[in-house]
Amino acid sequence: MTTSTGGPLIAMDQVNKHFGPLHVLRDVDLNVDRGEVVVVIGPSGSGKSTLCRSINRLEPIDSGEIRFDGTPLPAEGRALARLRSEVGMVFQSFNLFAHKTVLENVTLGPVKVRKEKTAVVRERAMDLLERVGIANQADKLPAQLSGGQQQRAAIARALAMQPKAMLFDEPTSALDPEMVGEVLDVMTGLAADGMTMIVVTHEMGFARHAANRVIFMADGQLVEQAPPAEFFANPRTERARDFLSKVL
Ligand code: ADP
Ligand code: MG
Repeated sequence: MTTSTGGPLIAMDQVNKHFGPLHVLRDVDLNVDRGEVVVVIGPSGSGKSTLCRSINRLEPIDSGEIRFDGTPLPAEGRALARLRSEVGMVFQSFNLFAHKTVLENVTLGPVKVRKEKTAVVRERAMDLLERVGIANQADKLPAQLSGGQQQRAAIARALAMQPKAMLFDEPTSALDPEMVGEVLDVMTGLAADGMTMIVVTHEMGFARHAANRVIFMADGQLVEQAPPAEFFANPRTERARDFLSKVL
């Protein structure tokens, strides 16, 4: 374990965010403990992506406070770069560098941003590609891989920075159905290994099996949160029941 302050790894306190007249995060309070897996569900436009993006400051907030590992999010400079390396993010679109090989995609951050030694990083990268099951694709370009393999490469790339937390924003939404499972399997493995994770997904099976807590978000608010067994068996609000009736 790294040196840490104790307390939640991610702490959001009365966070508000607007896009012009649109109030997209409303008094959000959210603590995520170390090793906890939180699945965020909710209708399109409810603020799930903005919530994730605010945690590594891809979106600055208007009011409230976000602390990561006990420290308020830095606004700029080296401290911000460091924060972003500690909070890995995986998006719906894989965002791999198209003209670099899979291995180069994974080694680039640690070598360029962290100034780590290439040989050390390559070894770690190959271990990670092994872990996500695509070591045999290391020398290919992203376009030569299936969508599921590309997303697994994106996960390996985020892990190469040795993050303290991983944020997944609909990581399987762009995949053909037959490839969803292989990506969820990697995420389930990460969760089992104790990674702190926030996962925005419509995959209710993953929420049931891998989450410690499910949060239902609507209109910028965290409307309900509960352990998955409790949430799925007995959603308390009409809105959550209505949402579940559409996705289950
Ligand atoms: P979700 O991920 O739950 O679908 P988002 O966080 O992407 O929701 O968006 C929440 C609301 O904020 C939506 O109405 C969306 O259109 C709006 N929004 C998101 N990003 C921007 C932006 N950069 N500029 C203006 N409006 C935005
Ligand atoms: Mg979204």
